[in-house]
Amino acid sequence: MHRNSSEEGRQGRKIELLVLHSMDGFYKSTVEWFKNPKTAVVAHYLISKKGEISQMLKDGWAGYHAGDYETNLRSIGIELEDEKKGEAWVYPKEEIKALRWLVKRLCKKYKIPKDKEHILLHKDITPERDDPVGNFDLDWIASFKTSYLRSVGRNDLSIS
Ligand SMILES: [Zn+2]
Repeated sequence: MHRNSSEEGRQGRKIELLVLHSMDGFYKSTVEWFKNPKTAVVAHYLISKKGEISQMLKDGWAGYHAGDYETNLRSIGIELEDEKKGEAWVYPKEEIKALRWLVKRLCKKYKIPKDKEHILLHKDITPERDDPVGNFDLDWIASFKTSYLRSVGRNDLSIS
């Protein structure tokens, strides 16, 4: 858990956003980098291309990842290991699976709606950055609701 560049308690703000990032480096070195107390940027979770998840910061603490103080206070940051294949940046299936698992879990725990207003890419906040790199698409978010509706019928929208 990272203590130095983070803020305990989020000044009373609720967790209501998830912000996704590109790691801009490899999983293992990013885990080590975030452990370094001198590191000023820290997100809560790191996900590797193989789908491993490391938690670097308690959810209850504000990280420094969104480039915007108010957003940091209200969000959980998730960094994805990325890979360039030819001209395209890719996020392997195992990684997206782990990301979906984590997003689902966090949304349930903090009652965050699973939509594009609440699950953000860093470039939604800071458009001049290509982060996550490439055409990272969030269309899979929509599938949460449909598959849930298929499994339980339409009356109860709460996520089990
Ligand atoms: Zn970022």
